[in-house]
Amino acid sequence: MTDSDAIAEAARCLECGCQANTQCDLRDYATEYQVDYREINTQERKMFPVDKSSEFIVFDANRCISCGSCVHACQTESVHGILNFSESSHRPSFPGGATMGDSNCVQCGACVQVCPTGHLPISAISHIAA
Ligand code: SF4
Ligand code: SF4
Repeated sequence: MTDSDAIAEAARCLECGCQANTQCDLRDYATEYQVDYREINTQERKMFPVDKSSEFIVFDANRCISCGSCVHACQTESVHGILNFSESSHRPSFPGGATMGDSNCVQCGACVQVCPTGHLPISAISHIAA
């Protein structure tokens, strides 16, 4: 990587405001597949409300890359296995469109541990910092 490449990469990465600047699969894949943010039409991206309804976990669907890891973790590791994929939004969802706080989520954190878009404490699904 040249100096100019490093400067361009740093400028692109810092734009998301994410504190997970040491481990982010999304950034790694974007680099691997040579994604150029200037070629992405962000005007048409769908924005989602951030779900802060639960006591310990916050879900920001705007950071989600629809990998499904959290759904798999919830289905295989949690007691209730309630997290599913919404066919309309292509984001994780709870039965009946409930928020996390209004669902049967047991706050086990299995989904948080596997979310790749940034690492704790900032990710699409993250624990609220104590
Ligand atoms: S914290 Fe809730 S949504 Fe996440 S894996 Fe556990 S039960 Fe499922
Ligand atoms: S693990 Fe994270 S990025 Fe993957 S679908 Fe779940 S919330 Fe989205």
